[in-house]
Amino acid sequence: MSFMPTKYIVVLGSLMSGLGKGVVTSSILKMLDFYDYNVYPVKFDGYLNYDCGTMNPYRHGEVFVLDDKSEVDMDFGIYERFLDKSLTGDLSITGGKLFSSVIDKERKGDYLGEDVQIIPHLTREIGEKVEEIAERNKADVLIIEVGGTVGDIENSYFIEAMRQFSIYHEVVFINLTYVPSIDVVGEQKTKPAQIGFRLLLQAGIMPRYVICRSEAELLEKTRKKLALFANLGIERIIDDSDRKTLYELPLHLMKQDLDKMLIKDLGLEDRRINEAKLLQWKEKVDRIIKPKGKVTIAIVGKYTGLKDSYASVKEALIHAGAQNDSEVDIRWMESEDFEEGSDYSKLSDVDGLIVPGGFGKRGTEGMINAIRYARENRIPYLGICFGMQMMVVEFARNVCKMDGANSQEFDPDSKYQVIHLLDSQKGVREKGGTMRLGAERCLLVGEDTIAYRSYRSNGVEERHRHRYEYNNAYRSALEGAGLRTTGLTSDKKLVEFVEWTGQFGVATQGHPELKSRLVAPAPLFVSLVGAALVRHQEGRK
Ligand code: GLN
Repeated sequence: MSFMPTKYIVVLGSLMSGLGKGVVTSSILKMLDFYDYNVYPVKFDGYLNYDCGTMNPYRHGEVFVLDDKSEVDMDFGIYERFLDKSLTGDLSITGGKLFSSVIDKERKGDYLGEDVQIIPHLTREIGEKVEEIAERNKADVLIIEVGGTVGDIENSYFIEAMRQFSIYHEVVFINLTYVPSIDVVGEQKTKPAQIGFRLLLQAGIMPRYVICRSEAELLEKTRKKLALFANLGIERIIDDSDRKTLYELPLHLMKQDLDKMLIKDLGLEDRRINEAKLLQWKEKVDRIIKPKGKVTIAIVGKYTGLKDSYASVKEALIHAGAQNDSEVDIRWMESEDFEEGSDYSKLSDVDGLIVPGGFGKRGTEGMINAIRYARENRIPYLGICFGMQMMVVEFARNVCKMDGANSQEFDPDSKYQVIHLLDSQKGVREKGGTMRLGAERCLLVGEDTIAYRSYRSNGVEERHRHRYEYNNAYRSALEGAGLRTTGLTSDKKLVEFVEWTGQFGVATQGHPELKSRLVAPAPLFVSLVGAALVRHQEGRK
């Protein structure tokens, strides 16, 4: 079979950020994946950080980690949750990576004699990177999401690079824009979108589709007006009004024939849709929209003011809810509100508790108190990374009476450093990409454990991102008092899973939320929601 050259879709946002460009890109990926085309996303981000690893989640949202140790933009989480495919770090192209490779080349003498410029050197670098990705993955289609908004200085060289790229490749540009209405029943305003078209035209780009974010569905007259200003047929103005769940968007776009039009525009091989894949997706979406049960899960963390900091935890709960045919009502709680003397009864009516990942001292005492409340009141508990470390600290202090037990991360003088620095981290000074990162294999110990019952396998591979670990010197004391060790790294040196005895409480040093997908939910989250349902039905005895 001859290899058809890769085709490209470029998604550009206009007017403002926060329109859900990642969800639109993922939905297009998913539509084409329903036909079993080999599709991959590529994300352009204009910032000069090399990657996301050094960014504060409270400002930028969650740092997403891939199997191959890359720390990437949280949009990769959306891509993977939709596509159900593990991606690689080279698909993330940042300003930092580009400038550093152009400067490296300049130093090597690759451009000898030339004055190195954004155009053509940087733009050519972008095109070459995209071609390499297409070639390496034998992709039928690459869907390139350009971060930021048309008109930003930061992403202007990416847009220019794609304009140049479209001269020699089959590229379809899609503009995601915003159509506001003054109130829900009011008139839909097209002027902002028109200004966006003008900016794109100025950049030399004619979008083939305009996808419109709006609250209510696009009215016929709004579509007509937009079509006129965008030089497009009315069928190319696509509605992206509010959905009950974001996982519905691929289906909604298909109702408007975006899949069929794109396949034709790109000249892709004519294929039948994979009905089984489509049906499985539809069933999951239906379960989210019409759940039978409902549970409340509290997330006690330190970045709850920005929900994006825990995007994967939130989505993993939605996936686990769909698996259990239940809605999950998330109660976001700031850990500082649980500090000494607080009213813990805020937790009395929740069916489950999660303490997610985190760094630094702020809020830790509140987390420890919340975990204690869950243990003493038999509230199902799931601890993730930092949440595991805090579970160990709580147990050491309150069950083993190790007064002042703590993590070395923020209490280096503690007498009982039940959590301490990983050996491999000693001597590490640089901050970028130096934590214990990526997919790590772990072995579950025994079968009568929450971990084994969840994964139904002895070998587990979750992604990691941490510098500290459970201190083995305290293992036998804590195990003797009832904190079970139920998973270890394959060399048996590090503790990966711990559990309470006789009640639902499990924590892991990995981040299972990062591998949760709508059609393949994270096992520990499924078990947590299952245990929460039991507690709910038993009337929170
Ligand atoms: N701060 C802890 C560590 O570095 C936990 C990290 C996390 O939760 N991702 O080990």
